[in-house]
Amino acid sequence: MLDPAFVFSQQSLNDFQECPRRFYLRYVVRLAWPAAPLPGSDAARHEAHVQRGAVLHRWIERFWLGIPPQAPASTAPYEADQDLQTWWRRFADTDFSDLPAQHLPELSLVAALGAYRLLARFDLLAIEPSGRVVIVDWKTGRSPTLLDAQAMRRRLQTRVYLYTLVTAGAAYNAGLPIEPARCELWYWLANFPEQPWVRIGYSAAEYQTDHDLLLALAADAGRRTDARAFPLTDDERRCTYCAYRALCRRTGVPGSPPEDEADDPSVGLIHLEMAD
Ligand code: SF4
Repeated sequence: MLDPAFVFSQQSLNDFQECPRRFYLRYVVRLAWPAAPLPGSDAARHEAHVQRGAVLHRWIERFWLGIPPQAPASTAPYEADQDLQTWWRRFADTDFSDLPAQHLPELSLVAALGAYRLLARFDLLAIEPSGRVVIVDWKTGRSPTLLDAQAMRRRLQTRVYLYTLVTAGAAYNAGLPIEPARCELWYWLANFPEQPWVRIGYSAAEYQTDHDLLLALAADAGRRTDARAFPLTDDERRCTYCAYRALCRRTGVPGSPPEDEADDPSVGLIHLEMAD
């Protein structure tokens, strides 16, 4: 059922893993179903948080591109937004001197994954001529799980980013393959100033493990042939912030907001719910 040109991403694989029906609605039939949250609801607060995170990402991208020279946090309409002001101040106070010297913000790579393709869009890729490469990802989530390096290592985002970098990053390393052991993923945590970084290394063994796991997920999604093969999740807490909750008649179930901000260009039909 999947379009042969479909490109997987950490977001779509995560959707498939969390709820096959969400994957089907979003990526197979591409159903636009914007669920406007009720004012004052948890979903509305979450959407505002997602939008605020998107603004911070834009500011940080402009910083690495060298534009504009003035502090973005002083510009309307954001000068009264305390979260944004705090996050920007923490970013501006962060020491980046141990990052590799070449900085490429908002870089997308597409890697082969068996018969499939896998896209990763990095907030920042930092490279040095020796072949040392660091992916940096800006996180505005508030979950303490973000501080757990082992848990972060197991995330699909971590696996997708590091696998894609090693598989498809040679063009940014003078045409030479990037060694897994020379790669790292650093999460910068806007809401944890006492521990702003979670740094995750990589290895050839982890690269192989990630390849096998990601390919199994993609193949599982790719071989399903009708809507019944994409069931609704049994965990209704995942429905609380899902754009399709009214369509699936899964409203009114309390749950936790996603830990990631939306950061996936393939999620073009729905602006809400899947928060970086
Ligand atoms: S509302 Fe629930 S069952 Fe329906 S697509 Fe979303 S997560 Fe899946």
